[in-house]
Amino acid sequence: MRRSILSVLAIVAGFSTFVHGQITDPVATEIWEPEPRVVTPGASQAPPSDAIVLLGDNLDAWRHKDGSALNWTIEDGVMTVKPGTGDIFTKEKFADCQLHIEWRAPVVVKSEGQGRGNSGVFLQDRYEVQVLDSYQNRTYSNGQAGSIYKQTMPLVNAMSPPGQWNTYDIIFKAPRFNDDGIKVASAFVTVIHNGVVIQNHTEIRGTTPYIGLPKNPAHGDDVIHLQDHGNLVSYRNIWIRKL
Ligand code: MG
Repeated sequence: MRRSILSVLAIVAGFSTFVHGQITDPVATEIWEPEPRVVTPGASQAPPSDAIVLLGDNLDAWRHKDGSALNWTIEDGVMTVKPGTGDIFTKEKFADCQLHIEWRAPVVVKSEGQGRGNSGVFLQDRYEVQVLDSYQNRTYSNGQAGSIYKQTMPLVNAMSPPGQWNTYDIIFKAPRFNDDGIKVASAFVTVIHNGVVIQNHTEIRGTTPYIGLPKNPAHGDDVIHLQDHGNLVSYRNIWIRKL
């Protein structure tokens, strides 16, 4: 605390110096309070100490749209889409966040383009970061793995082969709306795919529909949802940190 008071005094002193055009004391630009809290990183890709685990060894964090218990399969911490059962949604709602998610396209390669290993991570239930088997599988660029669907293609293709795990580390800043429901700041997202930056602080212009243009009516915190696109995409080790 004593150091903190000294810092404040130093800043005042520094300011008075600044008025004359120059800061000469290095202490004047030190900020001591608040101090960022300590977070213990997880070993390897394990959740850090302050993360909310969304997928570990059970499906408790998820529901179907009608609120029913999850019908996707889970075995040894690996959750797999059960085609035809529908998308799944977190019970909890989120805004700004850091999301870690691991996913795998089916080892048996079927179909092509958008029909191969298609799923998706929807931030705030609206904004899809595409999940697709984009390993030697051409489709429209703004629809391949790691695209902000139908908006922004990934910077590169960092896809693992079918049957091997991919990681997405997603840093998301939610859009802001004023009291009249007018958007005053777009959402932004950074996506790191297998350690490679593929979306670098990308503006999300609005929803990511299959047909049509983005729309962005006002909304608050909302769920994360994963897409059942009819393919046997698997997920594991999903965790999130609120920012
Ligand atoms: Mg999709």
